[in-house]
Amino acid sequence: RANMSEMLKGHGLRYASFLHQKGYIGGQWVSAASGKTFEVTNPSNGKVIASVPDMDEHDAQMAIDAAYDAFQTWRRTTAKERAILLRKWYSLMEEHKEDLAILMTAEAGKPLVESRGEITYGSSFLEWFAEEARRIHGEVVQSPAPSKEMIFLREPIGVVSMITPWNFPNAMITRKAGAALAAGCTCVIKPAEDTPFSALAAVDLAEKAGIPPGVVNVVTASRPNTPAVGEILCTSPKVAGMSFTGSTVVGQLLYKLCSTGIKRIGLELGGNAPFIVFNGANLKSAVEGLMVAKFRNAGQACISANRILVQSGVYDQFLEQLKEAVSKQLVVGDGFDKGVNQGPIINQSQLNKVSAIVKDSVAAGAHLVTGGNPHKLGGLFYEPTILTEVTEDMPCFKEEIFGPVVAVRKFETEEEALQIANNSDRGLAAYFYSQDVSQVWRVARRLETGMIGINEGLISATEGAFGGVKQSGIGREGSRHGIDDYTNIKYICIGGIN
Ligand code: NAD
Repeated sequence: RANMSEMLKGHGLRYASFLHQKGYIGGQWVSAASGKTFEVTNPSNGKVIASVPDMDEHDAQMAIDAAYDAFQTWRRTTAKERAILLRKWYSLMEEHKEDLAILMTAEAGKPLVESRGEITYGSSFLEWFAEEARRIHGEVVQSPAPSKEMIFLREPIGVVSMITPWNFPNAMITRKAGAALAAGCTCVIKPAEDTPFSALAAVDLAEKAGIPPGVVNVVTASRPNTPAVGEILCTSPKVAGMSFTGSTVVGQLLYKLCSTGIKRIGLELGGNAPFIVFNGANLKSAVEGLMVAKFRNAGQACISANRILVQSGVYDQFLEQLKEAVSKQLVVGDGFDKGVNQGPIINQSQLNKVSAIVKDSVAAGAHLVTGGNPHKLGGLFYEPTILTEVTEDMPCFKEEIFGPVVAVRKFETEEEALQIANNSDRGLAAYFYSQDVSQVWRVARRLETGMIGINEGLISATEGAFGGVKQSGIGREGSRHGIDDYTNIKYICIGGIN
């Protein structure tokens, strides 16, 4: 740890104490009861950053107990009290943005500028939900009889388990925890094993903000211990709900586990976003939009543009401009190095997956325009890649690529583009570029996704309702709807009024 914190200090880390090597349960920084730990490495160079506790289901149960006890008092705080604490947490996160970003770049490999951007985005949810906390209203409804009054109260559901991914290690926590705390819930967070330090540092600031012990808890676990931890987080009678962001296959598993106790569940799962460029579109802005929607975070985002569909009239021109942007704009390397805007893939298994998708697509007849290999830097770096002559049955179109790979297909008619775009069991985001107002509405109505960017490649926003349809998930995060998963409606009927 000494060496690594020295190294991180070299990158500007002010407070080495942010690099927590303990879990956080009931307001205490704790080791696993078993004493076991696991190492976390920097994907840019494979070096060990530090170790965190390898907690199991017993530790997770302690965290659930702490959250359950804390809920009994937290639920009775006023919305204003909760708002003040959330706002304090937000301010501290803003104040410590640089340290949080440095930790994130070290463990997730993101270019520092993107990590800073994520902390701004992540902290914005705490501010947003601080405001929303005070606008969680019940309803008084028209009763069917003059002798009755009918009221709906909105109450916090209780303890919420949160399992979060490595690709947005801060924002996926604040988007869930901010909403949960605003509603009066308490939580147990199980961050991805690749990126526990961002979670622990965020919670360090929650503690400093004065959020009471047990309201937020973090259980760190290695991949082997994760299924047992996940199971207790879904099945404990003291847990009221689960909120998960990650792969569809794990989402399905957690959904099943939650079904035994009929728990509330929010799922933000994988996508397979179509990105359609119609004849007449502004190609410059379409290419700019695609560069953001595809290469941000090295393509490791659930709303990444995955299937690029370009109408025949602009196909050649678009491809030329895209090739130029890819060759000129992307600088691959260590996220701490100046000018780098594409970091490594998070781990070997993800790199293997990206590599296999490209290889298998090429074997099936896709044309490799550029890239297609591990980067000459070695390690977990992968070349920015463009594939064309892609068909719908190729892995690069059927699967979520989760890497810096653009797969492009030509189409002739709007109808054909819609058929291809909707031919997926995923429905998270879609993007399209068009200057035709009538087409804008036609296509927006027919695309089967939860979110659409029209002439826009960057759709994530605190104010936006983030979520999918089909197998991309259940529920919405962010926006005013982000609170819904964390509240129950209690219907009260008062009779005998004369
Ligand atoms: P994953 O779904 O396995 O991991 C996400 C989270 O789930 C992590 O915290 C992980 O520890 C946890 N998890 C894994 N197995 C679990 C289990 N049995 N019980 C409880 N929790 C469990 O994702 P991954 O393996 O890191 O990535 C695989 C693919 O998932 C990616 O290629 C991508 O397609 C998708 N993914 C999507 C998102 C997203 O933002 N929607 C994020 C990460 C990964």
